[in-house]
Amino acid sequence: MKTTAIDLKKILVIYKPVDKKAHKGSQGHALIIGGSYGKIGSIVLSSKACLKSGCGLVTALVPKCGYDILQTSLPEAMVLTDDNEKCISKIDFEIEPKAIAIGMGIGQEMLTQKALHTFLKNNTKNLLVDADALNILSKNKDWLELLPKNTILTPHKKELERLIGSWENEDEKIKLTAEIATKFSLIFVLKGAPTQILDGKNLFENTTGNGALATAGSGDSLSGIITSFLVQGYKPLEASILGVYIHGLTADIAVASTGFESFIASDISENLGKAFLSLK
Ligand code: AMP
Ligand code: MG
Repeated sequence: MKTTAIDLKKILVIYKPVDKKAHKGSQGHALIIGGSYGKIGSIVLSSKACLKSGCGLVTALVPKCGYDILQTSLPEAMVLTDDNEKCISKIDFEIEPKAIAIGMGIGQEMLTQKALHTFLKNNTKNLLVDADALNILSKNKDWLELLPKNTILTPHKKELERLIGSWENEDEKIKLTAEIATKFSLIFVLKGAPTQILDGKNLFENTTGNGALATAGSGDSLSGIITSFLVQGYKPLEASILGVYIHGLTADIAVASTGFESFIASDISENLGKAFLSLK
């Protein structure tokens, strides 16, 4: 499969600056679902990166224990809570988000697995699946057919291995992933160094990012950035391409002041502004 580089030239074809007449309704509403006791930070990071990438509204759906944390650390986000104190047990909402990201910090409690299954059986909205929601899918591969067309899956190496099994070499990894992408009409964001994006027909390779991103919460932030682009109307493949490029760019910009060692995932959101301003 031919590989296309995700570089500035490609990004400038995809990226559309925010319209002068935009309002929060036209910028899109994202729903970020996940978190569990001790892992609410993943939803804070994801929701913040989502808001800082241009979308109009973010609602986070978290277990009860996440309410105060989110309302305090991210007043710009709206918060819905599950009845369960510590984990997601029911995915129920009366809002109309344009896209949904699910899985960051969600854990794998049996209640959560059942809630995910019911959600997938009923959901038709644009979807991004990350982290433990991916791991739950790996245990229940027949649920893959419940995913809406062009759902974005964002596995790192271990998560991918659980989903497709192990591979001997790079070609085999791409072949196995492309088979699943084609069979279920999925888009894979294969997170790594470099991140690759695969939709079954096309393979893209990111050119931004560095080892500073090898830190907790990096992937949670990426899921928020991509979801932000989805709700702003970018097609899932474009949202994925733009998302990984901007995400990597924040780290390339940040290390000049943080150094590699003291970069943390919050620095991704801190540097999104500079990353967007550099797109010219
Ligand atoms: P996660 O493991 O889910 O937190 O995701 C880690 C994120 O950081 C992914 O987007 C990776 O592509 C990115 N990342 C981690 N290490 C590197 C690296 N050495 N170079 C570039 N990107 C990286
Ligand atoms: Mg992750």
